[in-house]
Amino acid sequence: PDPTRELRDEQRRREHAMGGAAERYYLDPPRFERGWNTLLIDTRGRAYLDLVNNVTAIGHSHPRLADAVGRQLHLLNTNSRFLYEAYADFAEKLLAHAPDPSLDTVIPVNSGSEAVDLAIRLAQAATGRRDLIAAREGYHGWTMAADAVSTSAFDNPSALASRPEWVHLVDAPNDYRGPHRGTGAGAAYAAQVGRVAARLGDEGRPAAAFICEPVLGNAGGVMPPEGYLAAAYDAIRANGGLAIADEVQVGYGRLGGAFWGSELQGAVPDIIAVAKAAGNAYPVGAVIARREIVDALRDEGMFFSSAAGAPASAVAASAVLDVIRDEGLQRNAAIVGAHLRARIEELAARRSLIGRVHGSGLYLGVELVRDRETLEPAQEETARICERLLDHGIIMQATSERQNVLKVKPPMTLTIAEADVFVAALDAVLGELEG
Ligand code: PMP
Repeated sequence: PDPTRELRDEQRRREHAMGGAAERYYLDPPRFERGWNTLLIDTRGRAYLDLVNNVTAIGHSHPRLADAVGRQLHLLNTNSRFLYEAYADFAEKLLAHAPDPSLDTVIPVNSGSEAVDLAIRLAQAATGRRDLIAAREGYHGWTMAADAVSTSAFDNPSALASRPEWVHLVDAPNDYRGPHRGTGAGAAYAAQVGRVAARLGDEGRPAAAFICEPVLGNAGGVMPPEGYLAAAYDAIRANGGLAIADEVQVGYGRLGGAFWGSELQGAVPDIIAVAKAAGNAYPVGAVIARREIVDALRDEGMFFSSAAGAPASAVAASAVLDVIRDEGLQRNAAIVGAHLRARIEELAARRSLIGRVHGSGLYLGVELVRDRETLEPAQEETARICERLLDHGIIMQATSERQNVLKVKPPMTLTIAEADVFVAALDAVLGELEG
């Protein structure tokens, strides 16, 4: 078969069906037909190591997940109007991980965008307020409210100005390239949340909530500086608002040291949005909150989502939590993640393009810069590295609004040997770039 022609035909079919809006990635995108654990296998049988797929947290085609969903589809899958044991099972298992016993209620949804949207609505209903404070460089989803607080793709002032007037932005708490670095940076960034909240109160439009990712996933796995999250949550609460943690990317044990990003930062949110890993790419999301916050929605609207929490989704979600526990995947993320970080940091001693390794566990970001003083983003180099890693059989993509961070967020089953394969390939590709 003529590969160029196959690719053209497939691209034409995709564009016909989906329009031009969906991104394609890669100049010559691989066509996958199978997955196994950390591997993606293309139509020619070539296996690639998947280092970006934080949706498939327990690995591709996990037999326990496939069996659980398959069994349930043979038994019953229908809308969520009735009583199913499977949903209560999942909700109890998820609540066992809640960072605080006060977070005692779970609402099922189908995706991260829906989870964030609902989290925002709950905060607005519970406080009777409308305005939101959001950290810059975040991505929270495509629905109207989730998109309203998203700014990760915007490095230009006019795009930023298109956020609705009820959204108020604060700096991303990035102590590598933001305005505050070094000691005291966490308090300095959090103080801005307090200032904006106080100003909104003075203007008679106090904030319903502050939302951010507890670890800045879309900014490149950047860990907020010490003390930031707890101080930012204190600041919003002092002004009568709630704290929303978008754990869609970074939650579920991936960070190694804790199940939730907020936990790793020593902070307890009022509302948590969950998705991605929750269903291992089966459409599952959830919002966790205190009962009184959830009940507030009754006074001003309703919640019903036809397939959310339906039996097949619920058994998928339960199976994922069981596998994370039984296979010790949070611990694996901690061990393999620490090894991988140390190996990349070793590489940084020889490869000057590596500016900093962000993140924790198996959510790492390798930030590439042309100059370690000016931090000039190595955007073209990052794109080139991703293309060359594909030739080496490694799936890797760029993130951050400067597109200069390699996002390393593989299935949480990654082994030390696989981590080493990646480091060797990255070393070779960086060497090529240096000439
Ligand atoms: N929040 C965060 C932090 C995300 O990264 C994403 C997806 N990239 C979303 C929300 C939206 O999730 P979904 O694509 O499942 O709607």
